[in-house]
Amino acid sequence: MPQIKKIVILGGGFGGINVLKSIQNKFKNEPNVRISLVSKDNYFLYTPMLPQVASGLIHPSDITIPIRKLCKQAKFYQAEISSIDFKHKLVTITRTFDGKVHALDYDYLIIALGSNTNFYDYKNIKEHAFVIKTVEDAIAIHNQIINMLENAAQTSDVNFKKKLMTFVIVGGGFAGVETMGEINYLIRESVKNFYPSIGVENISMNLVTSKEFILPELGPNLGKDAGKYLRKVGVNIITNTKAIDAGENFVQLDNGEIIPCMTLIWAAGTVIDPVVSSLKCKHGKSRKLEVDKYLRLADHENIFALGDCALITNPSTGQTYPPTAQNSIHQSKTVADNLYSVITGKTILREFSFESKGMMTTLGRRVAIAVVYGIHCKGSLAWLIWRTYYLSMLPMLEKRFQVATSWTADLLFKRDLTHVGKIKRKYLTKVDISSNTSSIKDLFKDL
Ligand SMILES: Cc1cc2nc3c(=O)[nH]c(=O)nc-3n(C[C@H](O)[C@H](O)[C@H](O)COP(=O)(O)OP(=O)(O)OC[C@H]3O[C@@H](n4cnc5c(N)ncnc54)[C@H](O)[C@@H]3O)c2cc1C
Repeated sequence: MPQIKKIVILGGGFGGINVLKSIQNKFKNEPNVRISLVSKDNYFLYTPMLPQVASGLIHPSDITIPIRKLCKQAKFYQAEISSIDFKHKLVTITRTFDGKVHALDYDYLIIALGSNTNFYDYKNIKEHAFVIKTVEDAIAIHNQIINMLENAAQTSDVNFKKKLMTFVIVGGGFAGVETMGEINYLIRESVKNFYPSIGVENISMNLVTSKEFILPELGPNLGKDAGKYLRKVGVNIITNTKAIDAGENFVQLDNGEIIPCMTLIWAAGTVIDPVVSSLKCKHGKSRKLEVDKYLRLADHENIFALGDCALITNPSTGQTYPPTAQNSIHQSKTVADNLYSVITGKTILREFSFESKGMMTTLGRRVAIAVVYGIHCKGSLAWLIWRTYYLSMLPMLEKRFQVATSWTADLLFKRDLTHVGKIKRKYLTKVDISSNTSSIKDLFKDL
């Protein structure tokens, strides 16, 4: 292979880092292959455990893996990708540390840029909601919960207390349900153990979904079972309903209901990054990148796309693969194999096909729901399966050890209720002063 081949991977998430790991192995002793990876954060984020950071069960550093630790023979750029030029085979990046714009040329390009939160056209919701996408988001939610508990414990105005203790999550998919399961447990246990003056009767946990039942990915039976369990532990599930507006202290639903609350978490949709959606190539539903059965862009044989930003059809069902970490990991194997074949001059490529062996989700402490090899399972057994599987999928041994230690500590001790870093939102102060003047005086009355 006399000529130097440049491979550029865009995105350091599930798709990007798994392609990186595979191609580094395949081209181990090949000096003529140069690999670069670009991502805006310098770490890989293990999203399935993000709700557990929001609930304080594990630490943010347990699920963030420095990308450089995975770059055995690749160059890493921490930068924002601003554009991709297919014609000149160039990617323009803006370096995070100095804002300098830089162009990277490539022979082969892998696009694995995931997705962003979709707020549709709800500007107020975008302004007032928390999201659960990054590690900062999870820390901000954790801080907000502690902030609400501290303030609710110091007021005797019952209406204000109720408002502080009302939490709304919009979105009945994995992210919304797992986050609800986690924070419901944190809030109820904290009130019971550390904030008795709040009173559990003042807690209101609400999960809003536009579908008939939550977790449609798991099918109606398991979805309904998950709903039944959450209701049993005090979650109010509002189905067939959308949130359409929000302010500093309310959420409005499309059935006319207005929920007075200080915390809204939005987990109701994703949208493709503008860098990807504006590319001049074939796009499918939601502007995702359309790829062929080898995961290459149509008309661009040197470009592969995978993960949440790609539209990939399951050949046996004709349905598109859902955006999951599991699918991204499996797609990365096909991309790496085909890239290797193309670079080494092999003509036969591998078609992508993957049948999921199972799906599962946690619903709070020691409870999960799963379908594995078609067998439905719930409760503690499903929770053990969930833990074993997701722990084994964490890319580094040291992180598995850290998470296992945090989980063990949770069995033995009560949750940590300290703020981590700054509180992201300042709404509480604003609301106290503008619309709850009596409550602000009242806030410190009992101290
Ligand atoms: C809270 C939560 C819980 C989840 N739970 C599960 C679960 O239990 N099971 C499951 O299978 N899936 C789960 N998912 C979904 C899973 O995280 C995604 O399907 C998966 O991450 C998709 O992989 P990806 O490589 O396509 O994208 P990502 O993993 O999102 O990676 C995209 C990468 O591209 C980078 N990037 C994006 N745009 C730019 C840019 N312009 N410049 C530079 N870098 C950029 C990002 O920083 C990121 O590193 C969950 C997701 C969330 C948010």
